[in-house]
Amino acid sequence: MHTPLSLIPTVDLLRRQVINAVPSTGLLADQFARELRDLRISVTDRCNFRCVYCMPKAAFGRDHAFMAQSSLLTFEEIERLARIFIRLGVEKIRLTGGEPLLRKDIERLIERLASMTTAKGQPLDISLTTNGSLLAQKARALKDAGLSRVTVSLDALNDSLFKQMNDVGFPVADVLKGIDAAHSVGLAPIKINMVVKRGTNDQEILPLASLFRGSGITLRFIEFMDVGTSNQWKMSEVMPSDEVVSLINNQFPLYALDSMRSSDTSQRWGYRDGSGEIGVISSVTHAFCGACSRARLSAEGRLYSCLFSGQGHDLRTLVREGWSDDSITTAIACVWEGRTDRYSALRSSGNPMAGDAEMVKVEMSYIGG
Ligand code: SAM
Ligand code: SF4
Ligand code: SF4
Repeated sequence: MHTPLSLIPTVDLLRRQVINAVPSTGLLADQFARELRDLRISVTDRCNFRCVYCMPKAAFGRDHAFMAQSSLLTFEEIERLARIFIRLGVEKIRLTGGEPLLRKDIERLIERLASMTTAKGQPLDISLTTNGSLLAQKARALKDAGLSRVTVSLDALNDSLFKQMNDVGFPVADVLKGIDAAHSVGLAPIKINMVVKRGTNDQEILPLASLFRGSGITLRFIEFMDVGTSNQWKMSEVMPSDEVVSLINNQFPLYALDSMRSSDTSQRWGYRDGSGEIGVISSVTHAFCGACSRARLSAEGRLYSCLFSGQGHDLRTLVREGWSDDSITTAIACVWEGRTDRYSALRSSGNPMAGDAEMVKVEMSYIGG
């Protein structure tokens, strides 16, 4: 078999024995002893929104070249890779994009994934992140296919601001209908992600908190991140999560809750009156690289070990060249074992490599959130 040397640049794969690379427990650790637990799979790089912080029209205009259909991993290929990742310790899979509900027959992929169990024999935790635009029509089919839960992105309640932020004039009422539909078919727990851009939508924090308090839906505030190279990121437009928490706390008193898992990205805060909780994802101001257990697979099958990686590892070629499961397992294990990523931690500590405008970084819509 031909071995494409550029595919997995860090290791001479074929010299490694699978048995050495993959302990029977499925435990696999990187250079900072972080285990591989979560996999985010992007199923398309296309989106029907042009959110200003993610796919600004200046970079994703009408002539933008998206991936060809033949470049995308097929559902069979995704299923096969998912099984291999599970063998390596993955317990949670999140489908993302682009907009994952644009991928034709996505529920067929969910059916395939929903039948899988983790290496410990537990049901696989499958979720999906969506902009909610197609959720009203798809919620029932997603639930029936075996999806456990959804996260819906929602950056404003004010309709004209929401339309400005998605930049395609999509009305907020239709996303709210999608959230209702998800709720009524039992896709639970529902989470809502709000990216906060200071000076753009910070005035929407309290209206959104008021709407979801007491609803059983958890609202999470994400700091605007310097992901990719096209969103004109500026530190001055990041609203630190501490400020978000104190703003909400002034109106609706909060107390800190423990994390569910050490690798969780979100810090949890409960409402003192018992009306639920919120989360904050402080990727910029409180880096959480120390416990980062996430791998990402792009729609064309490139493996990224960090949201801020410039370069992925081409698993699709391994799959299409007929590599065995054991060889692909070894390849992924070698990538993870060699992993030293901690971009956000370096950025926080003022490392000049992080925040370097010249640094090659993959776009969020390519790799998923
Ligand atoms: N299209 C789907 C959606 O919007 O939910 C899934 C893909 S989107 C890339 C995944 C998540 O990334 C969304 O919650 C989105 O708000 C978030 N996101 C995108 N760009 C971001 C940025 N620059 N900073 C922080 N979060 C971002
Ligand atoms: Fe599309 Fe999601 Fe990016 Fe918005 S955040 S442009 S909905 S991929
Ligand atoms: Fe994980 Fe990279 Fe984000 Fe750090 S910067 S938390 S290593 S994805």
